[in-house]
Amino acid sequence: MSHKNSLDQRAIKIIFEAGDDGIMQSELWKELGVSSREGSRLALRFEEKGSVERRKVLHEGRWSYKLFSKREFVTMNSIEGCPCMICTDIEKCFESGIRDPVSCQELTSWLTPRKTD
Ligand code: SF4
Repeated sequence: MSHKNSLDQRAIKIIFEAGDDGIMQSELWKELGVSSREGSRLALRFEEKGSVERRKVLHEGRWSYKLFSKREFVTMNSIEGCPCMICTDIEKCFESGIRDPVSCQELTSWLTPRKTD
């Protein structure tokens, strides 16, 4: 893993673990051991990707940014009813296999949003 990827992963983990309280940019830079310039670039990149929200806050008399994770916990609700969970063909199911998730009707129906009206 490259230095950049490992730094990204550490940063994302710290921001995620900060939860709803978020974390001040400056605190994150300290924890990561990077300069504010490098850290700001990192935060902007995360914001562009949509994984982090930057909120401007007044901190100790100065404007700064607080970072909040936009990732959510995956819950069992998100896979409830997925046909793969009870499929007897799962061992044979892979791309270009005997069964193929790309062309599976059951999976496609489950993934297709149902009309509510
Ligand atoms: S994609 Fe279809 S065939 Fe494959 S495991 Fe899921 S339900 Fe079974």
